[in-house]
Amino acid sequence: MDAVMSEDIKKELGRLYREEFGKSPDIITSAPGRINLIGEHTDYNGGFVLPVAIDRRTYTAAGRRGGDLFIAFSKELSKKTSFEIQPGKFEHSNFWVNYIKGACSLLNELKPVKGLNFAIGSTVPRGSGLSSSAAYVVSIIEAVSRLYEIPLKDIEVPLLAQHIENEFVGVQSGIMDPFVAKFARVNTALLVDARSLEYKYVPISDKCSLVVCVTGVKRALATTEYNKRRQQCQTAVTDLSAKLQRPLVSLRDVTIDDLQSVKEEMDPMLYARAFHVVTESQRALQTVDALNKEDLGLVGKLMLESHMSLRSNYDVSSPELDTFVEIAEQLEGVYGARMTGAGFGGSAICLVDADLEDELSAEIAAKYKDRGYEDGYVFIARTGGGSQIERA
Ligand code: ADP
Ligand code: MG
Repeated sequence: MDAVMSEDIKKELGRLYREEFGKSPDIITSAPGRINLIGEHTDYNGGFVLPVAIDRRTYTAAGRRGGDLFIAFSKELSKKTSFEIQPGKFEHSNFWVNYIKGACSLLNELKPVKGLNFAIGSTVPRGSGLSSSAAYVVSIIEAVSRLYEIPLKDIEVPLLAQHIENEFVGVQSGIMDPFVAKFARVNTALLVDARSLEYKYVPISDKCSLVVCVTGVKRALATTEYNKRRQQCQTAVTDLSAKLQRPLVSLRDVTIDDLQSVKEEMDPMLYARAFHVVTESQRALQTVDALNKEDLGLVGKLMLESHMSLRSNYDVSSPELDTFVEIAEQLEGVYGARMTGAGFGGSAICLVDADLEDELSAEIAAKYKDRGYEDGYVFIARTGGGSQIERA
């Protein structure tokens, strides 16, 4: 992110914190939003993902208040609310403060966490497929664990974040989003093996730029359909295990040949879901090779294939996402485009010639508006780094 802009946000958040709580915060942390270059809906199937953190971040200013009360203020929502952490079973809901409550409750099981004030500020668009939720919850975990000196291993941060979204918010999200929010580095994509959690950094050529196309469509179906896809993959695993007559843990254990050998006996919908997952994971690995060879044409081709598979086999695209991709793929200087994130609205991404980034992003935005979509917008994203302590 532009260093000046990030300084401005930190200053503004510090000012807000003082206004709300009458003193300066003890700490400010941050974590990035992300795009996923390729490898969509593969993480919860034990496959490969290739996300990139962007230069939009969520900042958490926090300070001790003593006692049992926690108070949180979100600048973006203009909302302030308080809670206490109670032991025992938690009724999950997507209430924004549940991410904080989840973080404080789980960390409290490791080491006592007393009352805190929080002010949250962010430049990550919310609910747009750019993972504002992971940026938010990872920045909270970093702040609370540092303030109370809770010894967390690096890998425990994304695992805890995922657990919070699953159990406290009720979204069965995978490991990709919090993983990249924690471990990202600038100018690289992060190849993550979602089964072993091994990862490696893959340099991104400076000859290309990433253009993010926000549809502006609220993802009304996102949570239910996302959870439904997870269920369908699980059913496919059980079905395939019986048909292939071997135990399978996840779709990671299935090859294309396996799938094709039982295609005729399978429910066509389940086959299509599994086919997407297995081929998409392969595409993520092929994209790593293409990036290493700086073959941007091939990266773009794989991105388009990914989009088509998400649209027809996995059925998670939307007319707005398809429109962005359709517009982009016809423009000279665009290597490829696809939806990114879970789908059903949210955002698409385009990989474009770096020398043409301004013209192309303007043209894509104008053409999208011409098609009658008023709420969308387009921005050029720089790569970002993982979570960090901004001020202690
Ligand atoms: P995405 O992660 O793609 O942006 P999600 O639906 O997973 O979409 O997460 C969005 C939710 O995360 C919001 O509805 C809110 O509950 C929470 N959230 C994200 N950023 C903030 C913020 N700055 N302040 C308060 N809540 C936030
Ligand atoms: Mg999210």
